[in-house]
Amino acid sequence: MNSTIADIAAQIRLRDDFTIITHVSPDGDAVGSSLALYMALSALGKRAQLVCDGRMPPSYAFLPYSEAMIKPEDAKRTETAISVDCADRQRMGSAAKLFDAAEYTICIDHHVTNEGFGDINHVDATAAACGEIMFELVNGLGVEVDGELAEAMYTAILTDTGRFSYSNTTARSLLYASKMVELIDVQLLNRRIFADESISKTKLLGIAIGKLELLADNRIGIAGICQNDMKLVHASSEDCEGIVDKIRDIDTVEIAIFIRQAKDGSLKVSMRSKNYADVSAIAAKFGGGGHERAAGCTSYWSYAKTREVIVNAALGELKE
Ligand code: 5GP
Ligand code: MN
Repeated sequence: MNSTIADIAAQIRLRDDFTIITHVSPDGDAVGSSLALYMALSALGKRAQLVCDGRMPPSYAFLPYSEAMIKPEDAKRTETAISVDCADRQRMGSAAKLFDAAEYTICIDHHVTNEGFGDINHVDATAAACGEIMFELVNGLGVEVDGELAEAMYTAILTDTGRFSYSNTTARSLLYASKMVELIDVQLLNRRIFADESISKTKLLGIAIGKLELLADNRIGIAGICQNDMKLVHASSEDCEGIVDKIRDIDTVEIAIFIRQAKDGSLKVSMRSKNYADVSAIAAKFGGGGHERAAGCTSYWSYAKTREVIVNAALGELKE
């Protein structure tokens, strides 16, 4: 059962002590939406902590209150927990135990694969970003959107829509952005997020593109990066963000696949599609999820086996 924004707002008004949890390897939507909720709860005079099993990506550290994001081990159990941008419990990583420990749980998300794991759930797969849902919730709570809130929510929408360019971009994305644009410095925000790229990140992209394989008449593009590649150019896991999108940008590619080795040896698979392939269906086969055009999963198999099974599943998504 999907609850409305008004239902969620009513439950928030009733309660006080909150834990906001967003997903591992947080992206712009995860960071922006969860910070926005943190600011809105604070504006209402509620107690709240913001928890993530992963560090704040340096490119989003400029956002207001980014220092408020704490690790699960430093967090306390609270009466209410709210998950933001998490398609399933596993996406919360070790913060899931705080979610489970709460008396009441709320799930706010926009992934089609989300089955609703909270006591109440607002899962809106028509939203391009959780940032859009937050914009509605902030308004539903009667909190005024100031410059700080606008920066967080605009960042969330900007990043999950690929700067208003992906197929998930709607009139609603642009409408909400238009209501926030005068409260922020668009050019500065854009530069901080996209144009302040490190040498390491740029070199890592070079390594990945050097390893790119094109299959099925160049309709599938796949590349992988291991820990040694990252060490070689002093890159971090966050520096892998965007590589899969570059692969999709190749004119012939319908499905882009990027496989990154994590520190624990597991493989993080990121997938994108261009026109029709449903990559969330591929990810779901391997315990992951996401959206039709952007999805991911984690593999504990070898690189060779992971590559083989993912490529086979991708071949099944291609039209003849
Ligand atoms: P990315 O490739 O940028 O990490 O993720 C693309 C999309 O897929 C995001 O919306 C993200 O939430 C989703 N996604 C990525 N990895 C996983 C995963 O392991 N499980 C689930 N359920 N979704 C994922
Ligand atoms: Mn999102």
